[in-house]
Amino acid sequence: MTKIFSFLFTVVLVFSCGNDKNVAENASTSSEKTSGKNPTFGLVIHGGAGTILKENMSDSLEAAYTSKLEEAIRVGHKILENGGSAMEAVTKTINVMEDSPLFNAGKGAVFTHDETNELDASVMDGATLNAGAVAGVTGIKNPIDLAVEVMNNSPHVMLSGKGAEIFAKERGIELVDPSYFYTERRFQSLKRIKEREKENKISVANEDTFIKNSKYGTVGCAALDKNGNLAAGTSTGGMTNKKWNRIGDAPIIGAGTYANNATCAVSSTGWGEYFIRAMVAHDISAMMEYKGVSLQDAASDVIQKKLSELGGTGGIVAIDKDGNISMEFNTAGMYRAHMNAQGELTIGIYKE
Ligand code: ASP
Repeated sequence: MTKIFSFLFTVVLVFSCGNDKNVAENASTSSEKTSGKNPTFGLVIHGGAGTILKENMSDSLEAAYTSKLEEAIRVGHKILENGGSAMEAVTKTINVMEDSPLFNAGKGAVFTHDETNELDASVMDGATLNAGAVAGVTGIKNPIDLAVEVMNNSPHVMLSGKGAEIFAKERGIELVDPSYFYTERRFQSLKRIKEREKENKISVANEDTFIKNSKYGTVGCAALDKNGNLAAGTSTGGMTNKKWNRIGDAPIIGAGTYANNATCAVSSTGWGEYFIRAMVAHDISAMMEYKGVSLQDAASDVIQKKLSELGGTGGIVAIDKDGNISMEFNTAGMYRAHMNAQGELTIGIYKE
C-alpha cells in the first residue's frame, strides 16, 4: 500500500513539475512579448497607388518622393525602436506625409469639383479593436490626429463635416484656414479634369477608364510594436473633382483601414468605391482568421482576384502579428516603404 502511495506521489510530482515548466515557459514567452525582450517590430507605409510610370517621372520628383517616404518611415521606426506604441508610430509617420505637398493627404489634398478640399482619415487599434474616423473635414491640418481623438475621446467611431470640426476645436486639435490646402499642382489637376469634362472627353461611358488611369495619393501606415500590438491608419484628400460630399474608403473601418492583434493591420489606397464594396482591409484579416492563410496569400487573393474582378484598382500595405508584411497592388505603381526590427529599409515606387 505504502509503495502504491509513494508511486502515485512520484507520478503526481513528475506531472506537476512538467506542467509547471510549461506554465513557466508560456509565462516567459508572453512576458517576453509584453516586456519587449526579444521582440519583433516593424512598419510599412504607402503614399498612394495608380498609374505611376518611370517614364513620366522626373529624377528630381522621384528623389523627392523617395526621401519623404524615408523620412516618414524613420520617424515611426524610431518610435517603435524606443518601445513606443504601434498607434503612435502610425500617426506620427502619417503626420510627416500629411505635412508634405507631395501626397494627397493633409497639405497636398486634391480639390473637389467646387474647388475646396475635403479630407478623410481613420485609425484602428488592433489590441482593443477601437477605431476612430473623420470624413469631409476642411480645416483640420492633420486629420489623422482628429481620427485618434474621435477614437480616444468620444463615444463614436466616425464624425463628419462641421460637427467633426466643432469636436476638433473642443479637443484642441490644430485648425487651419482652408486656404492652407491650396497647392498649384493639385489645382491644375482639377482644372485639367474640368476642361476635359467640358470638352466632353470624360463622359459616363469612359469615366471608369479615366479614373482607373488616375493616381491615388492617399497615405497610410501599418505597424507592429514591441508589445505585439498592431495599428493602422489612412489619411486622404479623396479623389480629384469629387462631388456631392463624396466619401471614399479611407475613413471606412474595414475598407480603408483595419487592425486586429489576432491577424494583421492594413491600410488601403485606390479607387475607394471598390475598396468599400470589397471591404478590402477587413477581408484580408478575415481570410487570415477564418482560413488560416498567410498575410501575403490573403492580400494577393483580395487585391489580385477579388478587387480586380470587381474592376477596382489600387493596393494595400499590411503587417501581421509576426512582423511579416505585404505591399500588394494591381496598378502600375505604389509609393511604398518598409522597415523591420533590424533597421533594414526598402523603398519602392514602380512594379518590380
Ligand atoms: N482611396 C481614396 C479614395 O477613394 C483615394 C486614394 O487612395 O488616393 O478616396
